[in-house]
Formats: sequence, structure tokens, C-alpha cells
Amino acid sequence: MTHIYDTIILGGGPAGLSAALYAGRGKLDTLLIEKATYGGQVATTFEVDNYPGTDIGITGPELSEKMRKQAAAFGTNFIKEDIIDVQLDEKIKVIKTAKGEYQAKTVIIATGAEPKMVGFKGEKELRGRGVSYCATCDADFYTDFPIAVIGGGDSALQEALYLTKFASKVTIIHRRQGFRAAQYLVDKAKANEKIEFILDSVVEEATEEKGLLTGLRLKNVLTGEQSHLQVEGVFVFVGYKPISDLFQGKIKMNEFGEIITDVYMRTDVPGVFAAGDIRETTIRQVVTAAADGAVAAISCEKYLGEAE
Ligand code: NAP
Repeated sequence: MTHIYDTIILGGGPAGLSAALYAGRGKLDTLLIEKATYGGQVATTFEVDNYPGTDIGITGPELSEKMRKQAAAFGTNFIKEDIIDVQLDEKIKVIKTAKGEYQAKTVIIATGAEPKMVGFKGEKELRGRGVSYCATCDADFYTDFPIAVIGGGDSALQEALYLTKFASKVTIIHRRQGFRAAQYLVDKAKANEKIEFILDSVVEEATEEKGLLTGLRLKNVLTGEQSHLQVEGVFVFVGYKPISDLFQGKIKMNEFGEIITDVYMRTDVPGVFAAGDIRETTIRQVVTAAADGAVAAISCEKYLGEAE
């Protein structure tokens, strides 16, 4: 007979891991399915200095591992498999992976988000050959070389600061004068002598030689003036998009593919909850994702109690 879990958590980022902690602690029979790295986006972040209660200087992978260990201590089962299909509308939910099929009375969707692409010419072709979306993964390749960062949000500024530890120079290219990033990050970046800014500008094309990036062709959006910036690498941080394709047509979403929940993290499908960057929300931080996960797990517990 197929085992039926109380809850299956889809995704092992801060929202999923926090849900796993609360579900395990609530004695729910819990399975967490993660396709790649525990921690999700935070595992690709160098330092996390705004998660309460952790040591200053803690790295993203360290924080992720702490969260996973804490959840495991309360009995959550973890597997690493790629989810390929979900059936959520019946009382018993079915999650299909590349390796098997799992069943549960409730599901918490915490699949998170992935980096957006800018769409300049050559971006796709040169991914991994000069174009990167993860500073902690690739910074080392650019030791003592000039690089560029695209974006004006928290990610762009924070990762640009991190990249100065490696690169000889970091040029931040942003499409306007104002920054979306927190002012303290902007001030810190402006004070860093390795960082330069090219504002009101967009990347139109990556130049390459023998399949490796050699620079960026830029356009000033106000004057239309074109220029070429010689860099060995470019890091793209222009926001994230939800990983929600699997749930299209099965759960109510907004026009951006973000799952709509109420304050209990309930979706429009009974027994299905969503937490973290996957859902329609205003603030996307590790602490808010973790809070969502806790709420979702407690709501699951309540739903299961009422269903009995
Ligand atoms: P974001 O806040 O959405 O910022 C994206 C940036 O990229 C914006 O400056 C945007 O420009 C620019 N952009 C978007 N599309 C572009 C395009 N096609 N071409 C050129 N530029 C483009 O994304 P994020 O920085 O990744 O942050 C995502 C969320 O995570 C935010 O809620 C953020 O607060 C949070 N976060 C927090 C921290 C932290 O607290 N330390 C660190 C990282 C991320 P415009 O401003 O002109 O739209």
C-alpha cells in the first residue's frame, strides 16, 4: 500500500525548511522534496547579515545547512528528486517525480524563484562562458579581471560588493539613476573604490571571441549613445521569477505566475498551501520566507485536525 504523508513540502529553501521544522515539530508525517541544493537562492548568497539570531558573517550555505539540520532533528524526511507533475484537486494529493510517486493529505508549495534574464544578444549563448547569475558560484573565475554587474536592486548591489573581493574592477550597469536597493547598500557600493557605475544604460549585446565573453555593448537610454565596455564576465541580477510552471491551471496565480494565498498561506485548492518567493507577496527576504513556511505548516496542522 502506498504511504500517505500528512504533508509533502515542495522545495527546500528557507520557506520549505522552516515549514519542515514546524511540521516535524507538530508531529506531522512530513516529506520534503528538493531538486537541487537545500537553501535555494540563499545557498547562492555569500553572506546573510539580516537573518535574526545568526552570527554576523554567516554564509548562505552555512545558514541553509543549519536550517536543514534543525528540521531533520524533528523527523522530516528529505529526498532529492525532480518533481515532474502534481495532482492537487483530490483529497489525497499526488506528487510525481522523475523517480517515483508520493502521496499526502496536504501539500506546501515552496518552490521559490529563479533569476530573470535581461534578454540582451548573446546572453543565453554565453551563459557559463562569461555570463553568470550566481556570484558565490563563479566569482573565483574572475580573480583580478574586470567584470560588470547588471541591476539596481539589493541583489545587484550586494553581490557587486562581494565580487570586489575577487575582480580587479566591478562596473554596475543600471537602466536609470535611482536604485531599488536599500540605501545602505548603495552608500557602501559608492564608497568602494573598486566599484564604478554606468547609469541610464542598458546592455544590448555581449561581444565574444572563441565562444567566451569579451565585453558588453551598451546604450545610454537618454542619449542613445552607444559604447563598449571591456569585461571578462557579467553577473546578471535583475530580479527573479517564480518557479510555478508545474502549477499553471491547477492553482490560482497572478499575471506574474505567483501563487495567491490568504494570510494562512492557503491557496484556492483545499489542503494546498504556498510559502516564500513562490507566492504573491511584497517583501522577499529569508526571514519572510521562513515566516511563511511556519504559517503554512501550522495551517496544515489545523486543516488536518479539522479533516479528521
Ligand atoms: P529587484 O528588487 O526586483 O531589482 C531588480 C533590479 O533589476 C531593478 O533595479 C531593476 O531596475 C533591474 N531590472 C529589472 N529588469 C531589468 C532589465 N530587463 N534590464 C535591466 N535592468 C533590469 O530584484 P533583486 O535585487 O533580485 O531583489 C529581489 C528581492 O529580494 C527584493 O525583494 C529584495 O529586497 C530581496 N533581496 C534582499 C537582500 C537583502 O536584504 N540583503 C538581498 C538580495 C535580495 P528598475 O529599478 O529600474 O526596475
